[in-house]
Amino acid sequence: MYKKMPVIALEEHFWDHELAAQLQGSEGARAPEQLKRLYDLGELRLREMDEAGIDIQVLSHGAPSAQKLDASICVDLTRRVNDRLAEAIARHPTRFAGFAALPTANPEAAARELERCVKELGFVGAMICGLTNGVFHDDERFWCIYERAEALGVPIYFHPSFPDPDVSRIYYDKYGKDFPQVVRAAWGYTVETATQAVRLILSRVFEKHPGLNIILGHFGETLPYQLWRIDQALKRPGHDPMNFREHFTNNFYITTSGHFSTTALVCAMMEMSMDHIMFAVDYPFVPNAPAMEWLDTLQISKTDMRKLLSGNARRVLKI
Ligand code: MN
Repeated sequence: MYKKMPVIALEEHFWDHELAAQLQGSEGARAPEQLKRLYDLGELRLREMDEAGIDIQVLSHGAPSAQKLDASICVDLTRRVNDRLAEAIARHPTRFAGFAALPTANPEAAARELERCVKELGFVGAMICGLTNGVFHDDERFWCIYERAEALGVPIYFHPSFPDPDVSRIYYDKYGKDFPQVVRAAWGYTVETATQAVRLILSRVFEKHPGLNIILGHFGETLPYQLWRIDQALKRPGHDPMNFREHFTNNFYITTSGHFSTTALVCAMMEMSMDHIMFAVDYPFVPNAPAMEWLDTLQISKTDMRKLLSGNARRVLKI
């Protein structure tokens, strides 16, 4: 059914040579086939998009992107990374769009870079990966970024990254050797990114910036499934009034990246509505084919399928 519909994939990664060189040991952990795809913003990527039936990839730098860089180098470096991404998009403007990398170690500069990327380079938002040097992004020092995002009308995508060493040690060390993914995609990424989203709502940033849109990958990092309990628990006696559900269902959008589960989709549809769910693969960490095969099995209306595959993305990202 989806085969005649336009498809926009939202969480598709690349690596920039200069930034990747700063991320110690990151290349060593990746298979050569994956590295080849991370560095390709041309023929190979486009061929695999064509084979799968993906019309547009919204490109973002892979984790940790700029979030583990020192404040002294991150501003100039992310500027060059974003400029190079803009050049790659300009070579294939009908096939690629971009999320900016932000130098969050310098929040004021990050807000300015977001504005530059949107106004001058035509980017459709920004992606932030994990914590900024150990600090969650609900901290008020980052609110200038949200103020700018709201004013520009672009979303911020919160993506996982490898947790801090203490978290990794206390939570996962015992099983990390036999199950290297437990600290990553199997569980650690979800714990950290869901925590980031919960903290953002608790900070009341959405009361100050009601037009701020946040995107989460991986079907919302379990939050649609947890929504009733979080919302109810935060209304128990002893709490200041907080409508968690209202903020999560109004200000958050989620994608299907690396999580092709119909059960998860049904839960998200019931809790958030189809207007808040968008398609993503998580290429090249996840190949395109299983995502497209999954779409083929979905028994949803044509209207819903169109929202999932491109309609919501066009609205939220203004593509
Ligand atoms: Mn990803």
